[in-house]
Amino acid sequence: MSNVPQQRLVQTAIPGPKSAALQARKAAAVSAGVSTGLPVYVERAGGGILVDVDGNQLIDFGSGIAVTTVGNSAPRVVERVTQQVQDFTHTCFMVTPYEEYLDVAEALNELTPGDHEKRTALFNSGAEAVENAVKVARHYTGRNAVVAFDHAYHGRTNLTMALTAKNMPYKHRFGPFAGEVYRAPMSYPFRWPGGPADCAKESFDVFVQQVHAQVGEDNVAAVVLEPIQGEGGFIVPAPGFVKQVAEWCTDNGILFIADEVQSGFCRTGDWFASEHEDVVPDLITTAKGIAGGLPLAGVTGRADVMDSVHGGGLGGTYGGNPIACAAALGAIETMKEEDLCARARQVEALFVPRLQALAERYPQIGDIRGRGAMLAVELVNGPGDLTPNAALTGAVNRACHAEGLVTLTCGTYGNVFRFLPPLAASDELLTEGLDIFEKAFAASV
Ligand SMILES: *Cc1c(COP(=O)(O)O)cnc(C)c1O
Repeated sequence: MSNVPQQRLVQTAIPGPKSAALQARKAAAVSAGVSTGLPVYVERAGGGILVDVDGNQLIDFGSGIAVTTVGNSAPRVVERVTQQVQDFTHTCFMVTPYEEYLDVAEALNELTPGDHEKRTALFNSGAEAVENAVKVARHYTGRNAVVAFDHAYHGRTNLTMALTAKNMPYKHRFGPFAGEVYRAPMSYPFRWPGGPADCAKESFDVFVQQVHAQVGEDNVAAVVLEPIQGEGGFIVPAPGFVKQVAEWCTDNGILFIADEVQSGFCRTGDWFASEHEDVVPDLITTAKGIAGGLPLAGVTGRADVMDSVHGGGLGGTYGGNPIACAAALGAIETMKEEDLCARARQVEALFVPRLQALAERYPQIGDIRGRGAMLAVELVNGPGDLTPNAALTGAVNRACHAEGLVTLTCGTYGNVFRFLPPLAASDELLTEGLDIFEKAFAASV
């Protein structure tokens, strides 16, 4: 376990004076385009605690956006990275390769859904993985069009901005965007016009009709879908939707790309959220939780698809950097040894009854959703008025921060409160965090 004390401690205002001074330096040195959700400056972190420069110890309900699933500076990650950084730091895999890249590729080929022959390519970020999955799909199919969904988030590069649904802050005045990207309605039970039951029945039909009418199946290289959407609001599609879409893709010679950058690596209680949907994607993108905090991403998929690309067609200077690979091997070993998929299911069992009890008291909680340690509540005005309540969401978020709980919001309408605790956080910390959330909620409504 980490040597960071696993206890909350708030001894100054949040942010404290030292953080405030650093934030003033930030304003003078860092582009205003890079903003900070909770400007406490972190000095150390481990397990479920972040220690700031003012000596406060904050409970982490965000994992740096689903990255430090194994905990910050997890022992096996630190050990492997320390060794690797002493052995060598970089050669570029495309110039003179090294074994750690192969170890990660083999692990991804084994852990991702399906027991078919697979190949992997490694990159630096989730956006880069998604871009490369699209490149591979276009190359393999000889088709151009890519279909993404309402509320999708796939990154901030030009192509992935085009795939991402939300304008502010991701796309506003950053166009023109990459072409041949089409958007389909998302299976969103809570906001489906006819209600959740109709959503399961109708959302697939609407998708099929719309792609047929507006794009044409024969033009589509790939459909890109997050099996549980992340930034767009932790939207869990109606049961069966993901599988129907994947099967329809197969029937039409279209590649199904599961973007599991946020939902992968034990986060949802399985290694990948696709497993719960009983789906074997043609291609799957991974990043975030893969390497315990170091930048690494992967595209893993059918060998015939991944091997269709000419030599030199995929790569990048840093893709699959040896230190990031060492970190991934340490993170994956931790997930296996400590059965973190089971731990994510325990987190769900701890959180959901508490959230349900809160929802019974407060009609502003319109929906509770997610799986494992990827959970959210969607806030609305009240019963019968599902208007998104972004003001309340922001107020609860700020109240949590003031008490030393690091929380995140999300959603196209900014009204979703999400929970992404590290799986190394103890039940005691998680329970204390939930107590703070409840109080913050009661104080904000
Ligand atoms: C975060 C995220 C990305 C982008 O990853 P970066 O590493 O920030 O480029 C892509 N897809 C999903 C589903 C994500 O959550």
